[in-house]
Amino acid sequence: MCNEVREENFELNLTMENKNTALIDQVSNEGFIRQEVDPALDLAQEIARLKREKNAIILAHYYMVPEVQDIADFVGDSLALSQQAADTEADIILFAGVHFMGETAKILSPQKKVLIPDLNAGCSLADSCKPADFERFIAEHPGHTVVSYVNTSAQIKALTDVVCTSSNAVQVVESIPADQPLIFGPDRNLGNYIRQVTGRENMLIWDGACHVHEEFSLERILELKKEFPQAKILVHPECKKPIQLIADYVGSTAGILRFAQTDTADTYIVATESGILHQMRKSLPQKTLIAAPPMDSMCGCNDCAFMKLISLKKIYLTLKYELPEITVPEALRQKAEKSIRRMLEI
Ligand code: SF4
Repeated sequence: MCNEVREENFELNLTMENKNTALIDQVSNEGFIRQEVDPALDLAQEIARLKREKNAIILAHYYMVPEVQDIADFVGDSLALSQQAADTEADIILFAGVHFMGETAKILSPQKKVLIPDLNAGCSLADSCKPADFERFIAEHPGHTVVSYVNTSAQIKALTDVVCTSSNAVQVVESIPADQPLIFGPDRNLGNYIRQVTGRENMLIWDGACHVHEEFSLERILELKKEFPQAKILVHPECKKPIQLIADYVGSTAGILRFAQTDTADTYIVATESGILHQMRKSLPQKTLIAAPPMDSMCGCNDCAFMKLISLKKIYLTLKYELPEITVPEALRQKAEKSIRRMLEI
């Protein structure tokens, strides 16, 4: 699953005349620009220069590698990033994240050019919800309001009444009248967490999951807890229920960061993608932060292989050549936008 690559939905804007045909072909075939860069080049400085020249902004997710987070104009979770994408005055948005995030930015800001450094940066959770299957599921359950997590394709968002993120999922579900039956997709762990918090029984949950969050090992976290008995356990709601049950706090990446910033403990075991530890260490240098271990100690599965495809070099080349660009057909964009805007209004 870690090695799954881009889906057929990904689209390229191949019509720009000022593009080198070879580069376009390369991006079309490989998903990114493969080009040597002078090792003496200061990539961070060059990226800053290109951003100024092109009036571009870099939005980075918390799961990016540290050096990418450090050159971003804004680092955040999916909710904060989509708000930034909706509000920015920049002409170009470079999304340092996975495909559905860049696509969400394009849906919200169709007049902007949205770039993503590697089209292979997909998402196993988004891939666990295919549009044709989800459409059939909705048709089989008429009268349900459809709530979808932001980790979905534009096609799924177009089938959705209201989008949510892990930061606002409970709030979004609670904004819908309690007697209105719901479909929630695609993350089964987040869905079950919402059902438990809201007590909402009239909610059908799609059976999808994120391969990173499902890999955490209960046994190995409990062993760590024996070693650091004072540590608090912070868990993302995409993790399986047994991991949630031993948590001192369950919440989004932004929520986990906020909790550790305001809490008095000095040690935390953090069960989400390990990229969040960079911002936590920057803002809490005096605290001990331990990445929760996955089941297989050799696999590095608490790193999202898709997120880790984004590098400084790819960001530099993407800004330089303005490729790969994300496009969304206008009719699809308009349908998908409604469900995202509805979330932003809640
Ligand atoms: S961590 Fe999971 S949900 Fe997030 S982008 Fe990676 S595969 Fe998708």
